[in-house]
Amino acid sequence: MYKTYKTQGIVLKRIDWRENDLLVNIYTKDYGKIKAICKGGKNINSKMAAHLEPFSLVDLFLIKSNNLEKIAGAVCLSNFSEIKNNLEKIYYTSQAINLVNKTIKQGKKDEKVFNLLKNYLIILKSSYNFSKDKYEFLFSIFILKFLSILGYMPELYNCVICKRKLEPSENAFNYEKGGIICKNCKKDYVFNQNQNICQEDISEQTIKIFRLILKQNCDRLLKVKTNQKILNQVNKIIRNYLMYNKYD
Ligand SMILES: [Zn+2]
Repeated sequence: MYKTYKTQGIVLKRIDWRENDLLVNIYTKDYGKIKAICKGGKNINSKMAAHLEPFSLVDLFLIKSNNLEKIAGAVCLSNFSEIKNNLEKIYYTSQAINLVNKTIKQGKKDEKVFNLLKNYLIILKSSYNFSKDKYEFLFSIFILKFLSILGYMPELYNCVICKRKLEPSENAFNYEKGGIICKNCKKDYVFNQNQNICQEDISEQTIKIFRLILKQNCDRLLKVKTNQKILNQVNKIIRNYLMYNKYD
C-alpha cells in the first residue's frame, strides 16, 4: 500500500541518482530530514526538478513505498533568488544548510529547526547592505540557537562545575562542559588531553549577548548595539563551541 502525504520543506542538497533521477535531501516541517527520489529529475525538461533547487522552500507531495520516499509533486514557494544573486548571501546560506544537512539524521521531526532555518533564509534574502561582521553575527546566532535546539544549550547563569551563581568577572566558557565556568573552578579544571582548546575567557558583555541570543528572535538581535571586540569574542566562542560538538 502506498501512503501519500503533504508537507512543506527546504531543499538541503540534491545529487544524481541512477540513470535519470535525483536524490533530494529536504528538511521538512512535519517529518524532519528526508531523502526522496525525484523521478526523471535529471532530464533537463523536468518541471519538478526546477522546483527542487537547493535552498528552495517547497510544498511537497510525497509517496512512501518500501522505506523510500518518492516526490509526486513539488511547488516552489520561494527559490530565494535574492540570495542566489549575491555571493556573500550564498556563502552564509550554504554554511547553515550544510550544518543542518550534516548534523541532522533522517526522520527526526523538529519544527523548531525548520522554523529557524526558514527564518534565517528570509533574513538573508531581505538583508541589504549588511557588513561582513553583521553576516558573521547572524550566522553565530543561527549556530547557537541550532545547537540549543539539539540539546547543547550552554549554561549561562551558574558555574557549570560548582553550580554557584556567576560573578560578573573573570569567567571562562568551557567547551567540554558546555557553559560558563567561574574563576575559582577554571583554575583547577583538568583538561581532556584530546582537545586543543577546552575553555577560554569570556567577558560579561559577551555572556549577556549569549543570553539574549537564546531569548530573542534574529531580527531583534541584529539591532543589538555592541562593539567590535565583543562581537569578535561572540563569534569566536560560538564557532569553537560548534567545532567541539560537531559529530560528522
Ligand atoms: Zn565554579
